[in-house]
Amino acid sequence: MSELAELYQQVILDHNRAPRNFRAIAGATCSAEGYNPLCGDHFTLALSMDGDRITDAAFQGTGCAISKASASMMTEAVRGLLRAEAEAILDAFHAMVTGRGGDPSALGKLAAFSGVSEFPARVKCATLAWHALRAALEGRGAAVSTE
Ligand code: ZN
Repeated sequence: MSELAELYQQVILDHNRAPRNFRAIAGATCSAEGYNPLCGDHFTLALSMDGDRITDAAFQGTGCAISKASASMMTEAVRGLLRAEAEAILDAFHAMVTGRGGDPSALGKLAAFSGVSEFPARVKCATLAWHALRAALEGRGAAVSTE
């Protein structure tokens, strides 16, 4: 494993061990549920919005290390962003983990998930929280499933 891959691995392990924004939001503006039956990952994402700005993002639930770390880092990444900025990161992240190009360096710490593109089954784990983010932003409160 290269030094860089090892570093990325550490970031994912750290967020799995101590997920950020792992809590409920009282009076959340919108929320969405994400379920990945293939792995058993199941999260609820909640957002607080002030107009088009995401003022808070938090999640609850259970899942594997990849899905939990991804949800944790996603909530950190989108807090304070405008809806359009969050959607741009969402698209870039999705392109990276599905191996459809994109520039991982533009994603900061989220580049930790670039290796996931080599493991198709793990892509669903890594993108679950992001599917929930899109659903929440689009006001589709219903559950999203990777299947
Ligand atoms: Zn998983």
